[in-house]
Amino acid sequence: LSEKLCPKCNGTGWVQEKKGEKEYVHKCDCQSLNILLSRSERANIPSLFAGAELKGYVPEKENPSQKKAKKIIRNFIEQYPAVDKGFLLQGPTGVGKTRLLCAIATELMKKDDKIDIYYVDWNDLVREMRTGEGHSTRDFSGINNWINKLTDVEVLLFDELAASKISQWVADYIYYLINKRYNDKKLTIFATNFYDKGTDGRETLSGRIGERLRSRLYEMAQVLEIRGVDFRQKNM
Ligand SMILES: [Zn+2]
Repeated sequence: LSEKLCPKCNGTGWVQEKKGEKEYVHKCDCQSLNILLSRSERANIPSLFAGAELKGYVPEKENPSQKKAKKIIRNFIEQYPAVDKGFLLQGPTGVGKTRLLCAIATELMKKDDKIDIYYVDWNDLVREMRTGEGHSTRDFSGINNWINKLTDVEVLLFDELAASKISQWVADYIYYLINKRYNDKKLTIFATNFYDKGTDGRETLSGRIGERLRSRLYEMAQVLEIRGVDFRQKNM
């Protein structure tokens, strides 16, 4: 994207405009977009969703849960920083949870140009932690730096919560991270495919992450259930 010259300003970042006799020069729109994209990159936002806005999340027809989620998130962004809880987005694959997480990031970055925000995927975090498990000689500075970043950041977007099974060692590490954020009153927004009630023999969220962590999440995040369109209903 950045290698292609902006057609409005030919890559100069400035646009000339004539109003009657006078000529004006103003900053091109592509400049704020470039800034937003580089902030998204630093926030570790997946490039597919860099700069994704909330208006780009279009609820399916006859899907009140998606409409409701969007409305609540819009209010949250308006209220920020006067908010005291994050969210736990629960729903199946394909309902746009990652897009919503990244849209929250974009909207908060547009609202506050100093905001410190970071996206992490459970799978990446767990993979990194596992490489250290059982290897007492490993240099932990890399993972420790990462954990420090995740505990310190002002707003953390934690995607794919509970996506893979974890050992007690990794579970303790993740509990430490989330509990530290809770104690420090930091906002965390989670997304997961797992529910509190197991249906069709599926494991529950607390079955995956443990009661202790699940009850911590209750205190720091409001549940937003996002349903897909029910297949049978759609075909009736
Ligand atoms: Zn431009």
